[in-house]
Amino acid sequence: MSSHSGQDTVADPDPSVLIDVENLSVEFPVSSGTLFSRNRAIIHAVDNVSLSIRKGESLGLVGESGSGKTTLGRAILHLQKATSGRVFFEGQPINSMRGRELRNLRRRMQIIFQDPYSSLDPRMSAGSIIGEGITIHNLASTRAEYNRRVAELLEMVGLNPEMARRFPHEFSGGQRQRIGIARALAVEPDFIICDEPVSALDVSIQAQILSLLANLQSELELTYLFVAHDLSVVRHISDRVAVMYLGRIVEVATSVDLYSNPQHPYTYALISGIPVPDPRVEARRQRVVLGGEPANPADPPTGCHFHPRCPFATEQCASEKPELRQIDTGRLVSCHLAEELMLEGV
Ligand code: SF4
Repeated sequence: MSSHSGQDTVADPDPSVLIDVENLSVEFPVSSGTLFSRNRAIIHAVDNVSLSIRKGESLGLVGESGSGKTTLGRAILHLQKATSGRVFFEGQPINSMRGRELRNLRRRMQIIFQDPYSSLDPRMSAGSIIGEGITIHNLASTRAEYNRRVAELLEMVGLNPEMARRFPHEFSGGQRQRIGIARALAVEPDFIICDEPVSALDVSIQAQILSLLANLQSELELTYLFVAHDLSVVRHISDRVAVMYLGRIVEVATSVDLYSNPQHPYTYALISGIPVPDPRVEARRQRVVLGGEPANPADPPTGCHFHPRCPFATEQCASEKPELRQIDTGRLVSCHLAEELMLEGV
């Protein structure tokens, strides 16, 4: 992580870093009960998260539903207001940007949504959906240039340019997601958050969309934050993976290191659930079945949030919060027993 000082100034930003998240927290007030006995609580959806995303890399962000991964993604894009902390884009603080500066930055940071059914306006043609950003940001000076660009984008995502006149209901789920990808690419972004882009699609289509996203990333030198609830989805598309549990990052490592040698018991449990194709290896493997559901984010466990479900928990885990610390090159782990446990990868 690069270091920043002062409210709006950057001390010596690392030029290889595109996005730097510094102590970011997002809290939501919630209330329950009746009109006469309201209980108010605060949900710590994102709890003091710091991480960096390097230019041209794909960072996977994995966690169960309710872990805060989508909220973190939205807070990075400034679509969700952070309670505290800062986000820097090329060393510039996003939180304090306004007006034209923020609009320009919005063009450079895009999102591909999870649900290709609800994320496209049913009254707009595919061409208009893709071209909207081109118009808003004045990226084409003539109608002919606009049409050429829309056709080029459709081809880039594997669709026929003649489909520009069709409406969303005339496309399959996979084709709609391709339109969502073309819409994100239309404004020539540097950074894209892929928010569970394949989880609503049939398994047979998922691999095609993942391979399209991987090809586009290398062709266009894009930087991705790839959000998923399933470690197997991000494995081949991520250079590094960050694992999130109940609002906190618990492990960050290169994709190879994370899968072959997990250091956090939660990562280990997620990895042990991934099936291995070789039946002999599969038969020998130890499975960790996580007990219970993730805790209530409005009332998280003390100490390590994971301790009520962790098979290795000690007394210290229930009272002391483990810090996210570097244990070897490129690896961060938040566990009191990191390096002591001999956990098996795949
Ligand atoms: Fe398990 Fe303790 Fe490590 Fe938390 S700190 S993951 S409870 S061993």
